[in-house]
Amino acid sequence: MSDPSRFRIAIIGAGIAGLSAAIALKDEPRVDAQIYEKTSELREVGATIALGPNGMKTLERLGVSDALDESVAFRNETGHPMIYRHYKTDEVVSFDTHSESVEQHHHTARFFRPHLQQTLARHLDPSTIHLGKAFQSCSFDEELQKLVITFVDGSSEVADILLGADGIHSPVRQFFVSTSKTRITGWTTFRSVFPISHVEHIPDLPREAVHIWGPDRTLFVTPLAQGLFSVVGSHQEDPDAPPAEARHQAAAWDSAGAVDDLRELYKPWSPLVRSIVDATPYTKVYPNSAADGLETWVLGGGRVTLAGDAAHAHGGAYAAGGSLAADDGWAFAQAVKNLLAGDSFVGGADIGAALRLYERTRKPHTDRVQKTVRRRNENMVRRIGKTESDEELRSRISNRPDLRWIHEHDAVHAFSEALSASTSGPTELNGRLESL
Ligand SMILES: Cc1cc2nc3c(=O)[nH]c(=O)nc-3n(C[C@H](O)[C@H](O)[C@H](O)COP(=O)(O)OP(=O)(O)OC[C@H]3O[C@@H](n4cnc5c(N)ncnc54)[C@H](O)[C@@H]3O)c2cc1C
Repeated sequence: MSDPSRFRIAIIGAGIAGLSAAIALKDEPRVDAQIYEKTSELREVGATIALGPNGMKTLERLGVSDALDESVAFRNETGHPMIYRHYKTDEVVSFDTHSESVEQHHHTARFFRPHLQQTLARHLDPSTIHLGKAFQSCSFDEELQKLVITFVDGSSEVADILLGADGIHSPVRQFFVSTSKTRITGWTTFRSVFPISHVEHIPDLPREAVHIWGPDRTLFVTPLAQGLFSVVGSHQEDPDAPPAEARHQAAAWDSAGAVDDLRELYKPWSPLVRSIVDATPYTKVYPNSAADGLETWVLGGGRVTLAGDAAHAHGGAYAAGGSLAADDGWAFAQAVKNLLAGDSFVGGADIGAALRLYERTRKPHTDRVQKTVRRRNENMVRRIGKTESDEELRSRISNRPDLRWIHEHDAVHAFSEALSASTSGPTELNGRLESL
């Protein structure tokens, strides 16, 4: 039941972004944050997800220290966030490093996504997560001076702010920015997570997160917490080719894939790789999608914004999405808390200013991530069908871009910079509520 004396925030989506935002707001007595999630249960869907030091620090700041625990998070013992191996010889060609200042418990970790989602959800009062509530539309009630959000089941709720944290294909984004569409990138991924017992017998089974690169595809393997193991095979297809587009129509995180297709893709690889994919019991296939960056995240007459993939559907590259989502959720909450910090009246213009503060904190960084990923995808598409010598492959592995600016991005610093640069400009009107 809604408490009218409290500032109401409706969060659409119980993924990492939505849960992080709600956790960051739960101790703010003047805020009543409620999550609306379209699925009827938080099911065990998905495979491996990574958090870099930025996401790990954010979870700790949120008080979700149990997500950093070995019972949920798997980190490489050598301390290297990623180790790169050759597809034929299995030799280590290169590895990533953390900056020296990154403490061990903030090292890059891999999670079985359901473990991470459930750990986050445990930090919230279950009565604030409303399942089976799929966002449909939103309007502004002049009399109430509130947003009215309607769901596919015909019910509705009122709120002062709407946060769309509803993932890559975000219905909230599409409602407010009808021109925003996701497009397939052609980067197609087979994902499997299963008990390690399926592969335990394989001599030299990698015991750390390892990315094996071949000329036209990669295989990522890693142990996970709770005795699990993950295999993720990725290859680039032409995004404009009809078969890929057809698959995109059915794209979902739980689409069954043919494990024989996965095995076929890695037939010419080393005996070690072949034994891993041969022992992989099942797979799911996910063709990655991306959307262009938005001009602004301040929508709905200054009362609506977005977080996570909904705000910046970059297409899943560089394993950046989980940390970006956690950082967005945290930054959104800081902007709201800042709004409520004084005793002055909180009106529509103030809300717009708070959402702009959030946008200034996060968008410059995520715009850069999106552009970087887009360039990478274009390069990958250009390379389709081209042969690559062994020397060229090794050079490509060794000369990877340094991505610490993504994985070690300091959201706290960005927030304090945005706060000190704060000036209240005119409310940015945008989207479909603009005319109301
Ligand atoms: C089921 C699932 C499995 C995934 N598995 C993986 C994986 O294995 N590896 C990986 O790297 N990434 C995976 N992802 C994506 C990854 O979680 C995100 O890229 C990243 O964590 C950013 O999180 P997010 O909170 O922005 O979005 P998401 O994690 O996508 O969460 C969005 C949430 O919004 C909900 N939602 C969507 N539409 C509506 C609506 N109309 N109304 C209400 N709620 C809605 C979704 O059900 C979901 O719970 C998965 C996403 C989902 C939804």
